[in-house]
Parts: sequence; structure tokens; C-alpha cells
Amino acid sequence: MNLNLANSTNKGYPAPMAKHTILLVEDEKPIREMVFFALDGDEYKVVDAVNGRQASEYLNTHTPDLILMDWMLPDVSGLEMVRRIKRDEVLSSIPVIMLTAKTEEQNKVEGLDAGADDYITKPFSVKELSARIRAAIRRSGSNDKNRLSNGVLILDLDKHTILINDNELDAGPTEFKLLEFFMSHPEKVYSRAQLLDFVWGRSKFVEERTVDVHILRLRKLLKPHGCDKMIQTVRGYGYLFLVA
Ligand code: CA
Repeated sequence: MNLNLANSTNKGYPAPMAKHTILLVEDEKPIREMVFFALDGDEYKVVDAVNGRQASEYLNTHTPDLILMDWMLPDVSGLEMVRRIKRDEVLSSIPVIMLTAKTEEQNKVEGLDAGADDYITKPFSVKELSARIRAAIRRSGSNDKNRLSNGVLILDLDKHTILINDNELDAGPTEFKLLEFFMSHPEKVYSRAQLLDFVWGRSKFVEERTVDVHILRLRKLLKPHGCDKMIQTVRGYGYLFLVA
């Protein structure tokens, strides 16, 4: 495991660093590799699928932040995939950028009619792709900024509810705040003292053991849904939340 130790001298609340997951559906290996090398890193996690079937399987259990969809796939057309995604209640809010060699205006119209949010013509540069992705995620944020998701786990910040596969978990306010912190600061280890500062607030005197108690409660809530492993204990240091 590659552990990123949070800066223990950090005095402020760390900047939100939720990593965006991008699902890339593309059968051409050179394009998959190019997108992966260009984007997978601190800002994005790239998951790829080589055909519609693989993409559908992934989407049954995950809600990525953006989908890059090739038009010509070996098993189903990208256009048909976009239609399915946009008809799905959970998936419809995910921005979809279509990747295609087709440049004709008619195809572009068809893609947008099917519900694609944007359209990028091959060959494209990494710079162009990054700019389009950033813009699409920014736009989608205005509709969906009050939700955090990690795999099947969804945190609705407006309703203050935790959802897993449409089941609402009965979480207390502290468990909710703790999970909110973890989900917006994944893949980084935080000490108990840091969690007390960030989640409970500096002004309150709370023993470090309290953190363990609430982590235990949170894991108990997540366990029946197989999500308890998202919270990892880092011996001698603290806790880390894993991206699904
Ligand atoms: Ca293709």
C-alpha cells in the first residue's frame, strides 16, 4: 500500500481533494493507454472497459464522476450506451463525453440527442481532453455537489443520509461527519489527533479514544454492505479511507 501521510503540522482544514473517477470505455488500446497515462494520478482515477458489457458491469456497482465513451465499440454502440446511462436514475447525472472519429455534424447531433454532455473528435490532444473533462465535471458539480460517492456508498449532504444500494443507514451525526471527512479526503492517512481537529473541532476536548469508538460504529454500519473495508487502520498512526 502506498501511504500518503497527511501533514501533521497542517494548521488548517485540508483542501478537499476528492479524486474524481473516470470510466473510459474504449476498445482501442493505444487510446486507452494514452488516456490512462495522461490522466490517472492525483486528480483522477481512470478505470477502463474495453466494450459495452464490461462498462455495464462496472456501472452496476459504481458511479464514476465522468464517463468517456467511444462511439464504435465491438459489442454495442457508444450511442446506445449513452441512452442507457441517461435513462438510469442513478447514472443519469454522470457527465458523458463521447469519443469519436466521426466528424459529421449529423453524428454530433445524434450523440447530443442521446444525452451525451460533450463530444470530442479523434485524434485529440491530452490538453484538449483534460480541459473538456474539467469543464464537464465543473458543470455537473452544480447539480450534484451535495453528494459524495465511493463505489456503492453515497453520502447525501442535503438530506444528511448515507445510502448503499438504496438502503438508508441509521448513522448518528458524528458517524456522518466522520464519513463525510473520509470521503472528501480519501487515500491519505490521518492520525486520531488530526481527525479530532477536523471532525470534532479544535475547541472541544475529546479523548483520542473517542475516534476509535466512532470508527467502530461506522464500520459496524458499513459491514453488512461490505463497505467496512473502505476504512483502514494504519497501525501506530491512524486511519485511511480507500477509494472503491
Ligand atoms: Ca472504437
